[in-house]
Amino acid sequence: GRKFFVGGNWKCNGTTDEVKKIVTTLNEAEVPSEDVVEVVVSPPFVFLTLVKGLLRSDFNIAAQNCWVRKGGAFTGEVSAEMLVNLGIPYVILGHSERRQLLREANDFVGDKVAYALSQGLKVIACVGETLEQRESGSTMDVVAAQTKAIADRISDWTNVVVAYEPVWAIGTGKVATPAQAQEVHCGLRKWLHANVSAEVAASTRIIYGGSVSGANCKELAAQPDVDGFLVGGASLKPEFVDIIKSAT
Ligand code: 13P
Repeated sequence: GRKFFVGGNWKCNGTTDEVKKIVTTLNEAEVPSEDVVEVVVSPPFVFLTLVKGLLRSDFNIAAQNCWVRKGGAFTGEVSAEMLVNLGIPYVILGHSERRQLLREANDFVGDKVAYALSQGLKVIACVGETLEQRESGSTMDVVAAQTKAIADRISDWTNVVVAYEPVWAIGTGKVATPAQAQEVHCGLRKWLHANVSAEVAASTRIIYGGSVSGANCKELAAQPDVDGFLVGGASLKPEFVDIIKSAT
């Protein structure tokens, strides 16, 4: 089976004191065991070491991005090798905020995923359509093209989690309905079945992101192809614990 996955993407938020507070809340929370749910929090780069030092050992940590190739003369970037060196197991790649605001194209994200995996990182690879794309009926084409750019460059999907995050649902309070999420997750799984393998389609976790809250997580988690969540705003609040608990 696919182990339920709950990621907390803190985005560009937090002070040292706020980070310590969030971690304390998580450390004190009673949640299902790590055999049942994989919990990963993703602080900004500058807090990775702090969080690694404080966070309970049954939770993992993800960076929010990394450089596309080996490090070197790339001012302002952080390399996959550096994350490995710090003992950070995961990285989020291709988040829509980076695709849109920083113009990261499908091929560039595919290159990043391939390089990060080659260095031993696990990858949370994000895909998702804009409102305009949904309204024009191209949702499946968009997420398939984003997934293809990754599939063209990797052969082993063991360390990949796919996050479906419709852009119109991110930070808007407009969560996808359980049926909307299920439709795209099922479509992505079928795409993997047809274009990668039956085994990869069956074993790869596809998680949902976009206005997930303590109030809506249960219904979404009940969908057969929703294997967990990537949570933004609510991951900064004690409510994140309720979302973790939706695993059971
Ligand atoms: P929100 O949960 O704030 O909508 O953000 C979702 C997201 O982008 C997680 O990566």
